[in-house]
Amino acid sequence: MSPLRLRPIAFLIVSLLVVSCSNQTTNNRAFVFDKITDTIYQASGTGREVVGANSAIIINEDDALLVDSHMTPLAARRLLQELTTLTTKRVRYVVNTHFHFDHTDGNQVFGPYTDIIASAFTRQTLQEKGMETESFKRFTGGLPATIDTLKKQIAVEQDQARKQMLADSLGKTERFYRSLQDIKVTLPNLVLEKSLILYKGDREIQILHLGRAHTAGDVVVFLPKEKVLCTGDMLTEGLPYVGDGYLYQWVRTLEGLKKLDAETIIPGHGHVLQGKEKIDQLQSYLRDLLRQVEAFVERGATLDETVAGVNLSSHQPDYPSLAQGTPRLHVERAYEEAKLRVQLRAAAKAKGAKAQAGAEEEEGAAPEGTEKQK
Ligand SMILES: [Zn+2]
Repeated sequence: MSPLRLRPIAFLIVSLLVVSCSNQTTNNRAFVFDKITDTIYQASGTGREVVGANSAIIINEDDALLVDSHMTPLAARRLLQELTTLTTKRVRYVVNTHFHFDHTDGNQVFGPYTDIIASAFTRQTLQEKGMETESFKRFTGGLPATIDTLKKQIAVEQDQARKQMLADSLGKTERFYRSLQDIKVTLPNLVLEKSLILYKGDREIQILHLGRAHTAGDVVVFLPKEKVLCTGDMLTEGLPYVGDGYLYQWVRTLEGLKKLDAETIIPGHGHVLQGKEKIDQLQSYLRDLLRQVEAFVERGATLDETVAGVNLSSHQPDYPSLAQGTPRLHVERAYEEAKLRVQLRAAAKAKGAKAQAGAEEEEGAAPEGTEKQK
C-alpha cells in the first residue's frame, strides 16, 4: 500500500492523467523490467494499467520466484504475459511481503503448482478479513466516483488530445474496477514464523520476518550472494503508508534490515535503490515523528493540536512530498502509539511509587527484632 491510496480522488485523476501521457512511449505494455542482474529484475507499472506495487522477479536454474503479485488478477495476468520476454521458466513461487491488496490480489492467477509464501500473520489476515481491509476500502471505495467524474470531463472537453487522454484514463480505471470484481482471495499455502530458505542451484533465497513494521507480518526476500534485498513496503522510495504499521517497532525492525549485507534494494514502491541510505532516512523520519508527537502527548495536547504542531519539513530533501505537510495519518498513528506509551510509562511510574511507598510502610511497620527481619 502506498500513500497514493490516501490522496483525494481529484489527485487520483491527475495521477491517472499523468501516467496516461507515458503510454505512448511504452507500446501498451503494463510493466517495465529494470535489470539488476541477468536473473533478477524489478517490475513496475508503466501507467498503462493500474498494477499497484513493484514486484521482483528472480529467475532460477529451473523456475522463477516472484515477490508480490500486484493489485488485481488483470495486473498479474499482464505480468505473466510480459514475463515471457524475460524467461519461459514457470513461476514456481510467489512471495507476499504483506497482506495489502496491491501485493496479494493477483495471487489467484498462479495456479495450483505455484507455492504462495508469506508470514503466518499475512495468511491469517487474508483469511479473516479477505478484501474487507481498511486499506482496500480506502482506495477502491472512491473508484465509482472517479469513473463518473472522468465521464463528465470527457463530455465537456473540447481539446481532442486532452479528450483522448481522459478517455485512456477512463478505460484504465474501468478495467481496474472490473478486475476488482474478479478477485478471489487466494491464501498463501506456505507460511513462516521467522525464516524460510530456498536453495535453488547455487542460489540461496532467504525469506525473513524481522519484526513488526509496515504491518505485523512483513517479510523481506534477501539474496546474500547477489546482495539483493526486496523489502515490500517496509521500505518505499516515498513516504510509506502507515495505517497498519507499528511505528516504534518499525524503527527497530529497520535496524535488523540494515544488518543484512545488501547493496541493491527493490522497495515496495518507487525506483530500485543502491545502498542503505533510504533505510537511515526512514528511521530518521520515524524517530523524529515519534519524538515530536510524544512531546505533544506528554503535554496533554489533542490530536488536532498535534497535527497542527508537528513539523517534519527538515526531512523534505529525503521525502519531497512533505512540501504538502506531514500526512495526517502519520501523525494519527504516531499519536495512538505515543499515547499508549505515555500511559504505560505513567502507570509503571505510579506502580513503582506505590511499591516504594508500600515497602517503606512495611519497613516502618516492622520494627527491629520482629519475625519479619529474620
Ligand atoms: Zn503495503
